[in-house]
Amino acid sequence: MLPTLLFSDTKMGELQDHMQETALWQAVLGEIELSVSRGNFVTWFKNTQLIRYKDEVAVVGVANIFVKNQLERKFNELVVETLAKNGIKPVKIEYKIHTGISPQIKHSETDVLINPAAIQSHVKETERPKAVIGGVTHSYRQGLNDRYTFDNFVVGAGNELAYAACQAIVGKPGKKYNPLFLYGGVGIGKTHLIQAVGNAIAAVRPKARVIYASTEQFVQEFVDALRFKKNTSDFAGFYRGSDVLIVDDVQFLAGKERVQEEFFHTFNALYQNNKQIIMSSDKPPKDIPTLEERLRSRFAWGMTIDMQPPDFETRCAILQTKAAAQGVNLNQAITEVLATRASGNIRELEGALNQLLAYCEMRAIEPDMQIVTAMFDSNKARPKHISARQIIERTAKHFHISIEDILGPKRDKDIVVPRQIAMYMLRSELHLSFPKIAHELGRKDHTTAIHSIGKIEKELGYDGSIKQYVGELKERLYA
Ligand code: ADP
Ligand code: MG
Repeated sequence: MLPTLLFSDTKMGELQDHMQETALWQAVLGEIELSVSRGNFVTWFKNTQLIRYKDEVAVVGVANIFVKNQLERKFNELVVETLAKNGIKPVKIEYKIHTGISPQIKHSETDVLINPAAIQSHVKETERPKAVIGGVTHSYRQGLNDRYTFDNFVVGAGNELAYAACQAIVGKPGKKYNPLFLYGGVGIGKTHLIQAVGNAIAAVRPKARVIYASTEQFVQEFVDALRFKKNTSDFAGFYRGSDVLIVDDVQFLAGKERVQEEFFHTFNALYQNNKQIIMSSDKPPKDIPTLEERLRSRFAWGMTIDMQPPDFETRCAILQTKAAAQGVNLNQAITEVLATRASGNIRELEGALNQLLAYCEMRAIEPDMQIVTAMFDSNKARPKHISARQIIERTAKHFHISIEDILGPKRDKDIVVPRQIAMYMLRSELHLSFPKIAHELGRKDHTTAIHSIGKIEKELGYDGSIKQYVGELKERLYA
């Protein structure tokens, strides 16, 4: 177990004892290690230290500007949360380049792909202002995911126009390119880009009501409003009260007459008030079947841009950026193989990279050419779809326990270990998220999954029997 140090707030203000700070920071790092990937931990956290905690300001020493930027940009919230768990609630965290710390990262061509200037301001959801509409309190910012930013979007031949239009909108929402209609095939970055506009506007204008909704969500809420409230005024008010409305995948409006009618009114209300509307679709307005003519023409009033699959160079840049974000430096040769073999959309490209990184991470090895080639070759032999359920069933069977037991509440060691191994397998083979893994195993709390997987990963390093179980299971899974 990790040591958990608890200090009261006032006491912490006086915490100057270096030993205590070191112990506290070790505890914090211990927890962080369990919640980020190994690559991320080694690259961004391993060589950090808590230099000072005084007057509610925590100063964290880091090796270089690259680490500083990454911690500020990507991991600040995690650091704040983990400090809070250990009894410290700093008002501010400063990341300071500390010469006593040896540099972790060798600068390479990968580094230039990451733009240190583009530091996102992260305002916590709870700190954002709320609006009251029709007696209901709404957050000013709905449906946006911080994961999608301009900063981590690689611009290339297929998407530069769309990118430029989206950036232009941030400066003048509602005035330029209204509506903006982006279209293109699956997995080429439509959702990423329109979410990034929303995030960027929300960052510079914290009071703007920025709403992102998938068309499915819009349809579902409309149907619910009809069913349960018998009138749709709350629903209508909610969407018509937005300053920026982002609707993803509007091709799904096809064939839904009443929803189209509602959308038409929403569109008009917003448009007349110079509110920005952004839409995405897998095809241009003219090709969406059974779309009312009046909507079709309105969709094309502003700017319609198609997005093309990325070319080879862009695919390489995307791979290197994504690997760097995970703390891994992909060399040119490996990048090129991945970019050649996974040549479809960006989601596929990401999938191949994640598979490679997970494989290497589990075995604590660096990606090399041999692994990459073997991975693609063995992929061919492996059945494409192994479900979470199949993995759990096979794990239970392997240990001769019942599926009820592995999914159930029992805490006996001969059930707990297989359960932990099943969680580990879901992570290593299917790359599922921790909450999803917990859910698959009937657990409510995703930290159970984090701890279990962390434990198995560690044990794989020194426990021969665990290593053997996992090895056998993997063999059989694909047999
Ligand atoms: P779409 O909505 O067009 O189906 P997404 O926006 O969901 O595609 O993109 C699929 C995945 O690829 C996402 O994880 C997204 O972050 C990533 N992605 C797409 N385009 C880029 C890009 N140009 N740079 C970096 N990541 C990208
Ligand atoms: Mg999408």
